[in-house]
Amino acid sequence: MRAKHLNRYLGDLGWRGSPIPPDSKPKTTPVAASSGDTLEGLAARAAVCTLCRLSETRTTVVFGEGDPRADVMFVGEGPGAEEDRTGRPFVGQAGKLLDRMIFAMGFEREEVYIANVVKCRPPGNRDPKDDEVAACAAFLDHQIDLIAPKVIVALGKPASRRLTGTNKPMGALRGRWSSYRGVPLMPTFHSAYLLRSPKAKREVWEDLKLVMRRLASTAEE
Ligand code: URA
Repeated sequence: MRAKHLNRYLGDLGWRGSPIPPDSKPKTTPVAASSGDTLEGLAARAAVCTLCRLSETRTTVVFGEGDPRADVMFVGEGPGAEEDRTGRPFVGQAGKLLDRMIFAMGFEREEVYIANVVKCRPPGNRDPKDDEVAACAAFLDHQIDLIAPKVIVALGKPASRRLTGTNKPMGALRGRWSSYRGVPLMPTFHSAYLLRSPKAKREVWEDLKLVMRRLASTAEE
């Protein structure tokens, strides 16, 4: 299954074979959250949040999903129509491409954590506004602290700008390490952008290889 997706993503790039050594897959240990300060508790608070106007038009709060002890956390922009309907992040076309990127990195989707800077759908899929991102900031920050990933991958401009704290263009942010809440941060292009500009897949793959190398080096420590 993984090989199929890996080959498909790499095939999109015009590459043959896998550059990923078989032993580079980092280990993850899924654990169930318990009572107290947990992701479940945070998700329950998010589910009734009315801190910003997005709560008025949402169908479902899309808190995030994945391994609560994931080594890699992907942070996107905000739910789209399909996510708003299902309550799950990245399940539309951009999500399917993200799945292939995750497979190409040597992970199952369930082994990483996927969240967004805003948990409710911006109407018409517009970018989230600054005050909406600010209203949701504590949820994402707390989520990051609880998951404590080894690496965060910021997908696209709103997530990259929010997590780097700059307004630089994506071209200047992608492929460069910084850190957020003590976690190494790698901004890269959003999978929705890749659907429109497939040529950028090569740059994203370069960024994801940096992430894989970093994970492999932390696994050796
Ligand atoms: N789906 C999400 O959950 N987030 C995005 O940024 C795009 C699609």
